Amino acid sequence: MLFDTHAHLNDEKFNEDRQDVIARARENGVSLICNIGYNRETITTSLELTRQYDFIYTAIGWHPQDAKTMTDDDLAWIEKLASEEKKVVAIGEIGLDYYWDTSPKDVQHDVFRKQIRLAKKLKLPIIIHDREAHQDIINILREEEAEEVGGIMHCFSGSPEMATECINMNFYISLGGPVTFKNAKKPKEVAEHVPLDRLLIETDCPYLTPEPYRGKRNESGYVRYVAEKIAGLKNISFEKIAEITTENAKKLFQIQV
Ligand SMILES: [Zn+2]
Ligand SMILES: [Zn+2]
Repeated sequence: MLFDTHAHLNDEKFNEDRQDVIARARENGVSLICNIGYNRETITTSLELTRQYDFIYTAIGWHPQDAKTMTDDDLAWIEKLASEEKKVVAIGEIGLDYYWDTSPKDVQHDVFRKQIRLAKKLKLPIIIHDREAHQDIINILREEEAEEVGGIMHCFSGSPEMATECINMNFYISLGGPVTFKNAKKPKEVAEHVPLDRLLIETDCPYLTPEPYRGKRNESGYVRYVAEKIAGLKNISFEKIAEITTENAKKLFQIQV
């Protein structure tokens, strides 16, 4: 069994064949999925998916790219859903994105901090989106004492040293497609470095498609290629990676199945 801890199956790129994509994930051994809602529209459609499929859970939060649009009403709405809906297992994805830079940094910081505080209030883990913002992410997590809830560094792109800093703050390191890319050195070093009990796998589909499908649309079933690659790097069996990463995610999300 495999747990895809970060998917966007409600993305419009799946509008034509969503059911088939989800069926193929099952055929490829994916037994659990955490789908992500990151604004009004995708939080609503992600919750709908959790009602249609018993093995799909969701995280909800406000994406840093849209930080400047988040209102107090939005935050209150997220709080209400996260406390009432049983299949909301985390707050996220939240964080900082300096690559697209579509919201001013100070606004991104403010929205990130507010959502960490909300997660602590609700006692839910957080899912972190960090794009070219490593040091500010670490500083804010530390200042806000995010360790209290912990969570996931999604599609982790930092160094092995940064991974250790995150693990020491009660975070799991999640790897996706880039670990399979021939020219990507850092995610491979991170895969070798991170202890098994702190490792998770994800697709971030429809983005970041692993080899051998790089360049095409990604889907949850392809998480197996991520697991295979990590198994090779760590020199242990695919089954072991699948089992441990699934157990890690279930523990973090408090899923009992
Ligand atoms: Zn992300
Ligand atoms: Zn995402």
